[in-house]
Amino acid sequence: MGKLTKILKLEPGHSQRGANQNRSRALVAGGAGFLGSHLCERLLRDGYDVVALDNFHTGKRYNLNALLRNPRFTCIEHDIVNALPLGLQFDEIYNLACPASPPHYQEDPIHTFKTNVLGSLNLLELARQNNAKIFQASTSEVYGDPFVHPQPESYFGNVNTHGPRSCYDEGKRSAETLFFDYSRTYGLDIRVARIFNTYGRRMQPDDGRVVSNFIVQALRGQDLTVYGSGLQTRSFCYADDLIEGFVRLMNAPDAPAHPVNLGNPGEFTIMELATLVVNYTNSRSKIVHRPLPVDDPRQRKPDISFARNNLGWEPKISLSQGLAHTVDYFDTLLYGSKLVKGA
Ligand code: NAD
Ligand code: UDP
Repeated sequence: MGKLTKILKLEPGHSQRGANQNRSRALVAGGAGFLGSHLCERLLRDGYDVVALDNFHTGKRYNLNALLRNPRFTCIEHDIVNALPLGLQFDEIYNLACPASPPHYQEDPIHTFKTNVLGSLNLLELARQNNAKIFQASTSEVYGDPFVHPQPESYFGNVNTHGPRSCYDEGKRSAETLFFDYSRTYGLDIRVARIFNTYGRRMQPDDGRVVSNFIVQALRGQDLTVYGSGLQTRSFCYADDLIEGFVRLMNAPDAPAHPVNLGNPGEFTIMELATLVVNYTNSRSKIVHRPLPVDDPRQRKPDISFARNNLGWEPKISLSQGLAHTVDYFDTLLYGSKLVKGA
């Protein structure tokens, strides 16, 4: 077992020897993060034995509080850049391990790139040894600052190879390459989702992405910081909708021959988002402008025709509904007691 590996909780029912042979076993790399913890919860509900693997860089132990009470759940502290613990056996592997917020993935860009390349390689090798199906959380960032709008999966993107966002954007693009090469070379069953901006419960108040920043600022009565003019657009998907998309993509009888866009096609300017958040929170916060980060994409909107037609999937939760849930969550997190109960 690698030096950084620590078993947080391993009961007899969880060990490789003790694992129930009749239940499918899923590994969720990045399982302590925002999306990963929702995915672990969903897989447990669907009857899987679930192991989360996480280095707790941006993920939190308290995201797993409720899950750790479930005897079918285990968490292993491990960095996927390093060789994986020996003897792991899984039917399905989900790779969500990677900081997703620009300030976080830019803190240590080389490690972000290694996470996407070496980490993906380690998980792909594990999938090959286990003959497991493997899912990759790719991103709309592979489209960069797009010239095609909305973005279909067939668009190759417009990405800077050497800017401050490149460790993430190019890391995710390289990971897609590795996944498809493993599929072509070894016949591995791969599923690659290109995820567009997703928000919801279990985002961290200091995450740095726009939805959590604005809600936390509004609830604290601080100015909402709009970067640049605020006329740049994003499409915001609520986490529950996205997780449904993950599961449908993973369970589709045939592996799509290309990555699949998952996101909410509703498109909003950042100014529109700021105004919505101020209204929902009844906040007296002002909207102020700060410099636009380098290479910030000007527009983003998924073409989800493939997911609609082939997975029967489309988001159900509007931005208004999703913001209402997320405002409630942060209100409780900042001023209530849900956090200690394991929200
Ligand atoms: P997050 O930062 O909350 O979760 C990432 C998790 O991965 C954290 O628990 C973190 O500790 C863990 N991690 C990071 N590097 C690791 C490493 N080297 N080894 C082990 N664990 C590691 O982010 P999220 O929003 O939950 O995103 C999950 C995945 O989905 C990421 O891969 C991200 O790139 C992708 N994605 C998310 C969005 C979004 O809007 N949320 C959009 C596009 C893609
Ligand atoms: N943004 C903003 N204020 C913030 C955080 C982000 O105006 O406090 C902007 C950011 O410049 C970008 C958009 O909101 O145009 C989405 O940013 P986020 O970091 O959430 O995601 P990404 O840029 O990766 O799509």
